[in-house]
Amino acid sequence: MQKVVIAGSGPAGLTAGIYSARAGLAPIIFEGPAPGGQLTVSAEVENYPGFPEALSGMELMERIHKQAEKFGARFNSAMVEQVVKDGDVFKVKAGDKTTEAQALIIATGAQARRLPIPSEKKFYGKGVSGCATCDGFFYKDKKVIVVGGGNAAMEDAVFLTKFASKVTIVHRRDYLRADAVEVEKAKKNSKIEWLIPWVVKEILGNDLVTGVKLKNAESGKTFELECEGVFVAIGHEPKTDVFKDVVQTDEKGFIIVQPGSTRTSTDGVFACGDVCDHKYKQAVVAAGQGCMAAMDVDRYLGIKE
Ligand code: NAP
Repeated sequence: MQKVVIAGSGPAGLTAGIYSARAGLAPIIFEGPAPGGQLTVSAEVENYPGFPEALSGMELMERIHKQAEKFGARFNSAMVEQVVKDGDVFKVKAGDKTTEAQALIIATGAQARRLPIPSEKKFYGKGVSGCATCDGFFYKDKKVIVVGGGNAAMEDAVFLTKFASKVTIVHRRDYLRADAVEVEKAKKNSKIEWLIPWVVKEILGNDLVTGVKLKNAESGKTFELECEGVFVAIGHEPKTDVFKDVVQTDEKGFIIVQPGSTRTSTDGVFACGDVCDHKYKQAVVAAGQGCMAAMDVDRYLGIKE
């Protein structure tokens, strides 16, 4: 019987690992198919505290991994496939083994939705970004586009006007899902232009992005727009499918946690990071929540003993 099992190995899962290992809980971290999580695709991370010289997302995650290992966290490369609650015990199936644990921390993260075109993959990290907060700074005096019509797209577009010379919002239909107040802020900003209803058919460039090919969703007309950055803000999908029988999720699949805590709807199950956060989505926030989850587990197990 394990004290705690952690599903996920991004900043949230690994920080939960550091804190729970240091609390003597000997956590097992199931890393899953993409150890290190979303951050490993970032070529440069400049906003993680403690690293004034930028470092790659991969290097940052390797360092946090080492730190968790140093304090006794145990790693397993399998992905959690099923969780069954049996009284006070959680039976966690991963690979060909089932591990029993008194507590479970879910830190499986979320995946940014991607544009369904091959050139988006080709230029990801070379002009295509899924995070304006992380990468906006690199687009000083450059022209960028933001794809999407939700609150994130509006917020990203306004944020990017701090750096870019021009920001064009490209949205696929003539109805914006974003709240009126967010749309208003974007509309008032003189650096923002709109292309509605237009669809990105292809991202153009050699090594780096130089433009996009757009198609009008109504007339079918196409044209090429020059830009150096493409910010994709079309939503995130939390990785919660295997946990839906054990914890409550919201209508978009994010795990619901009690305000100011990592407790979920089920005693003994805690969630941290992007799997329960569709607002901030930052590595440092996820790491902070990982710390909270480990402390919440320690308290939960202490009360049970
Ligand atoms: P969202 O509300 O789901 O909006 C996603 C947008 O992307 C929609 O406009 C959608 O178009 C578009 N889209 C989806 N797939 C696409 C594709 N393949 N190609 C082109 N466009 C595509 O996601 P979000 O903006 O990330 O927001 C997520 C949640 O966080 C929401 O609940 C939001 O309110 C919240 N949030 C709040 C704030 C704030 O309050 N300031 C800021 C950010 C996010 P359609 O409309 O045509 O489907």
